[in-house]
Amino acid sequence: MNIKNIKSLRIFGQRWGVIWVTPDKQESLLDNQIAKSCNYENNIYILNSLSDDKTFEVLLHEAIHVVDEDLRLGLAESAVNRLSIGIASVLLDNFNVNVKEK
Ligand SMILES: [Zn+2]
Repeated sequence: MNIKNIKSLRIFGQRWGVIWVTPDKQESLLDNQIAKSCNYENNIYILNSLSDDKTFEVLLHEAIHVVDEDLRLGLAESAVNRLSIGIASVLLDNFNVNVKEK
C-alpha cells in the first residue's frame, strides 16, 4: 500500500477523513505542526512531505489521540508520542505492514 493514498481511517466505527497538506499550506492548515486531528470535522490533517515511515507513525499518533478522547484516557502528549513510535515499530516488525509504495 502507498500510505499517502489513504483517504480515511475507521476508528471505533467512525470515519475520519485524512487530508494531505502540501508544505505551502502547512502554516495555514496545520499551525506549522506536521499533523492535527479536528474533532468537529472528523478529519486528520497531515503534511504530505514526510517519509513513509514517519507518515505511518504520525497517522498512528493522530489515531491514538482519537482513541484517547473516545476512551477518556487522558494521555499526555508525550505518552501519545511514545505509544505511536512503539506501536508503529511493533506493526512494521511483526505484522507484515508495508507502508512503502509498490
Ligand atoms: Zn499529538
